Amino acid sequence: MPDIRAISFDLDDTLWPIRPLIERAETALHAYLARHCPRTAAAWPIPRMRELREQVAREHPQLAHDFTAQRLISLERALAGSGDDVAHAQPAFEALYLERNRVAFYADALPALDALGARFPLASLTNGNADLGRIGIAGRFTVRVAARERGVAKPERAIFAHTAAALGVELADMLHVGDDPWLDIDGAARAGMRTCWVNRDGSAWPTELPPPDLAVATLDALVAALADARLPAAAGPSGEPAEPANLPR
Ligand SMILES: [Mg+2]
Repeated sequence: MPDIRAISFDLDDTLWPIRPLIERAETALHAYLARHCPRTAAAWPIPRMRELREQVAREHPQLAHDFTAQRLISLERALAGSGDDVAHAQPAFEALYLERNRVAFYADALPALDALGARFPLASLTNGNADLGRIGIAGRFTVRVAARERGVAKPERAIFAHTAAALGVELADMLHVGDDPWLDIDGAARAGMRTCWVNRDGSAWPTELPPPDLAVATLDALVAALADARLPAAAGPSGEPAEPANLPR
């Protein structure tokens, strides 16, 4: 039975739903523009602004995982094209980002972080641009890893390896928890980690991928699945590390 000593968590759609968040954030951005830069707001309704960000992402593949940079470039372009002051880009982004970080956690998220954080070092591992400090949960993670800061994103091995190294554990001793079969589960498995797929909407597992080690509908189920795992307690008096937890299949 494989052992785990630390757990990494995806954020968006694992700890909170992302779609309503982005819709609120884009609405807040549009409201800022309507108030301060009405020409830009008129020329760039929300769907068109979204398309512009996607276009900017295609034009700047090096920014593929930096949604903040994509947004700022998009805003500067939209503002300039409408004859508005590009200095509005930063406060307009701030209007969006404020809402982007007003997350509504899934009901099981914080209790699971509490329960698992008491037993394992936790890492956050995201391709998104959530600000855990603003959200108020930065302190729950020993290590916080973001693709936009690392310049490499899930599913690439390097970002999983960085996370394990930052926690001081081997990849094989870690469990990665996430909702995306390709970015989270296949990526982590290829990196040599144990995996837990959070499948909240009852999706079918993609037949082309090897299955995850665990599949759960809620994080409560993950906590329950790990409940019998032995504690990876601190080194004993002899200096020998205690037994790590076993991951049930
Ligand atoms: Mg996700």
